[in-house]
Amino acid sequence: MKCSRDGDFSEGQLQRFGNIEINPSAAVLNYGQGLFEGLKAYRKQDGNILLFRPEENAIRMRNGAERMCMPAPSVEQFVEAVKATVLANKRWIPPPGKGSLYIRPLLMGTGPVLGLAPAPDYTFLIYVSPVGNYFKEGVAPINLIVENDFHRATPGGTGGVKTIGNYAAVLKAQAAAKAKGYSDVLYLDCLYKRYIEEVSSCNIFIVKDNVISTPAIKGTILPGITRKSIIEVARSHGFKVEERNVTVDELVEADEVFCTGTAVVLSPVGSITYKSQRVSYGEDGFGPVSKQLYTSLTSLQMGLCEDTMSWTVQLS
Ligand code: PMP
Repeated sequence: MKCSRDGDFSEGQLQRFGNIEINPSAAVLNYGQGLFEGLKAYRKQDGNILLFRPEENAIRMRNGAERMCMPAPSVEQFVEAVKATVLANKRWIPPPGKGSLYIRPLLMGTGPVLGLAPAPDYTFLIYVSPVGNYFKEGVAPINLIVENDFHRATPGGTGGVKTIGNYAAVLKAQAAAKAKGYSDVLYLDCLYKRYIEEVSSCNIFIVKDNVISTPAIKGTILPGITRKSIIEVARSHGFKVEERNVTVDELVEADEVFCTGTAVVLSPVGSITYKSQRVSYGEDGFGPVSKQLYTSLTSLQMGLCEDTMSWTVQLS
């Protein structure tokens, strides 16, 4: 779909996956004026397809677009485009239990600019790919390292929106962590280097004495849709959930730590290393709280239980 700066997005069309043409002076290439989203489609046992809260992705993209001086498709346009793309790629959706179809909506300033300014024209597109587990460990525990030198977000910056530049900012620290055998990086706030924020592509939770805590959303953390869903699921199971500042020291005392995101779903954290000190959680992966939440969330997403939350959108 195409759009000028103040206009409406045109009717979209399906086209075969392949390279796209782009002006070398497009704002997205020169100034990073781009946003993306990520969501998944699961195939149910009865053959129907489920999307998980796609309107939440549409709303997040619209909020991000406001921050990035971009027009964005309406919630309805976004959801309809996702549905049409998924239906056209039905054959790529893995069978139940074998993975999902990852859906990547992309909004870019594709009009030309030379001096720094928002683009005159925009493109919204969606591509898809079948996926399995995000971490090579699968749903086994992941090992994180706390990053002390690099930050992914600063107050007043763009950390709270899903803009492409945020991910360029994490590549170096993530590559260094992987080279040392860690699964990913856990970032600290950049003012005090005391509060945990999030992992390169997922949110983080700790469990202590059955109370679940996660860093509050304050502009430097992506408001994850899985995070929001897990908070609601946990509260519906009677857990106390706190959104607050979580200090790096609390990781030592935590009973369980887990990460959430569309790609990682809910991954238990097996260990966290901070300033050469390693804290481990359990031996065989999931603690009881994260296991319960994982089962509830994935049952909803995969259509294995009744959708009492009305979160899924069924396509056939
Ligand atoms: N934080 C970051 C930086 C992410 O890229 C993601 C993935 N979108 C998340 C958190 C989790 O968000 P969601 O649950 O909406 O996928």
